[in-house]
Amino acid sequence: MKIVRIHNELLGTYGDRGNADVLAYRAGLNGISADVVDISYRDVVPGDGDIYLLGGAEDAAQVLSCEALRGFDFKDCVVLAVCAGFQILGNSYFAGGVKQNGLGVIDMETVPGASRFVGDIAIESDVVGVTLTGFENHGGETNLAGGITPLGGVITGMGNGTSGVDGAVVGNVFGTYLHGPVLARNPEFADLLLECAIGHALPRVSDPIADEYAQWRRASIK
Ligand code: GLN
Repeated sequence: MKIVRIHNELLGTYGDRGNADVLAYRAGLNGISADVVDISYRDVVPGDGDIYLLGGAEDAAQVLSCEALRGFDFKDCVVLAVCAGFQILGNSYFAGGVKQNGLGVIDMETVPGASRFVGDIAIESDVVGVTLTGFENHGGETNLAGGITPLGGVITGMGNGTSGVDGAVVGNVFGTYLHGPVLARNPEFADLLLECAIGHALPRVSDPIADEYAQWRRASIK
């Protein structure tokens, strides 16, 4: 399995690089050998990735990454996009107060929020089938177009903003505001992405430390 970690030098501010490592580790638990391939913003993004990962970034880095990705078609890929990476998949977002064109993969717009959203976040995700926990830190507020499925409903925190939901799911493209890294805090989400990539269900692997950590975080939701 080829896990493509995109532009970590730009989209690595919030430690989302760990999502790739969790996927490779859990693929291994399932007997699937996996390589993490780092793609710099000067590289051409390979079309043969099994899972593509985009992370969070500050505004200037976010624009550089978005422009370098223009022309790559994420539509039919398995993608996890976090925060800045999520925003650039939409129709538009703001960076440094200036409206930018996104990649148009998800029908949504991101606008400056009333204040910066920083803190713990938990969402109830029917898509993943569990409560997901994470940490958010963003100024943008994302409005999904009608008919776009969110990743989950907010229990605590802000997520997309005032709409009470977080993230979006279109086909196998998953967006969220949850840092953590989100897959380290929520192993079920990692397994769902692996299943999307291989096209069938996987047995639940035993990983007691990951499970204990996820449950501890869920029990800590205020
Ligand atoms: N720069 C974007 C914002 O502030 C994304 C931040 C992030 O990725 N954490 O909304």
